[in-house]
Amino acid sequence: MKPGKMLPWHRQRILLLLGVALLVAAPPLFGYGATPVSPQDARQEFALLSARLRRNPHDVTVLNSLGILYARAGQLNDAIVLWNRALTINPRYIHLYNNLGSALKAQGRVEEAVRVYHAGLAITPSFWIFYNLGLLEKDRGRYREAAQCFRECLRQNPRFEAAAQKLEDLGYVLASQQAGAGIPFKPPTSLENLSLTILERMEGEEGESGEGAAPRPAGAPSDTRRPWRAGGGAELPVTMTVEACAAYLEKMAQGAPTRLVALTFDDGPHPAITPRLLDLLQANGAKGTFFVLGSRAESYPDLLERMAREGHEVGNHSWNHKSLVRQGMAAARADLLRAAATIEAYTNQPCRLVRPPYGHTNAEVREMIHRLGWAHIMWDADSRDWQLSDANQILARTLRKTSPGAVLLFHDIHPGVLRVLPVLLPALRQCGYRFVTVSELIRLQGSRS
Ligand SMILES: [Zn+2]
Repeated sequence: MKPGKMLPWHRQRILLLLGVALLVAAPPLFGYGATPVSPQDARQEFALLSARLRRNPHDVTVLNSLGILYARAGQLNDAIVLWNRALTINPRYIHLYNNLGSALKAQGRVEEAVRVYHAGLAITPSFWIFYNLGLLEKDRGRYREAAQCFRECLRQNPRFEAAAQKLEDLGYVLASQQAGAGIPFKPPTSLENLSLTILERMEGEEGESGEGAAPRPAGAPSDTRRPWRAGGGAELPVTMTVEACAAYLEKMAQGAPTRLVALTFDDGPHPAITPRLLDLLQANGAKGTFFVLGSRAESYPDLLERMAREGHEVGNHSWNHKSLVRQGMAAARADLLRAAATIEAYTNQPCRLVRPPYGHTNAEVREMIHRLGWAHIMWDADSRDWQLSDANQILARTLRKTSPGAVLLFHDIHPGVLRVLPVLLPALRQCGYRFVTVSELIRLQGSRS
């Protein structure tokens, strides 16, 4: 199915109703209230997280993620109970303060929200909390306090232009500030995110690649003289052993002396797959680039922290996998800024790479991304791991387009990547490849030309 097509409305409704019916049939958990009513893949994630919580009722990261699922399904009371419980277990887990404060604010419990934000700031001067406290102070007419919060927010994260915009709105003109449209920050309380993700992914993900559509990373030289013939004259191995794959890769490399490859993983993080993928990369001494969704980053901040800590790069794949082209440029820009701010909050490093969802892009999207000072990144080898269930087929598709300087595309919300990398990584290494992040690839290739 092409990216532009939607499922017929009646099918969307049937799928949604099916999801809801399954939820209603599911037994209630932890005595905190009903299971959150949300579409199906949120339900699977909910099942996975709640099973983890049964194994370890004191897992604060799971309590945090589950609370977000509840809040997005509109069940704020359940979310608040979970986050409060998590705070009694680990009062230093900073993400809880932001989520709890936003939920209390959404319920009109302003004084409680203020107390929660201040308690969080006493632990870590998080720019997110300063920003949200600033919004709250502004809402209740305390403009000086609000301005102070936005200033502190900018001190913590000078790239956070939403705060600069709010300061300007309050009449403070900032020198050297080019504030843009601002980031439409929303507390995690809306169901729209979940329902859109699932329905879009079901119909749209297939459009995320296309034969021959393999633009170079922005800034990469165009004359890398890579063998682009499918197969490079070599025959794919019949049995996908490490040795056979390495021999094939050797032929594809055509004697190139420098062999770099950038592994990229889209659509995560996922609570079960991403940690195993990170283990695999670590075991093979490989660095990769994760193009995450802002909404999923919000649910799994610890996984983003781990990615950054272990030397991986984290790029922006939009807030919730909506096509940037179809959103229109103003909305798409705000969407990317919101995702980038969330990602930077957890990785504590600049997020400068954007991969458009579905690979759906055009000259306007490219220009908008470049104007923000970011790089627009596509891929060379599409593993189709979201579509193919057979590991050998995934491997074959990847191998056919892998040559020095290639950007490889996988998805860390599907298990295929975990079956393929144990063969592919040692094969690449045996063939002399070095695993680099996308930014390193751009830098190194650029310096070669
Ligand atoms: Zn994607």
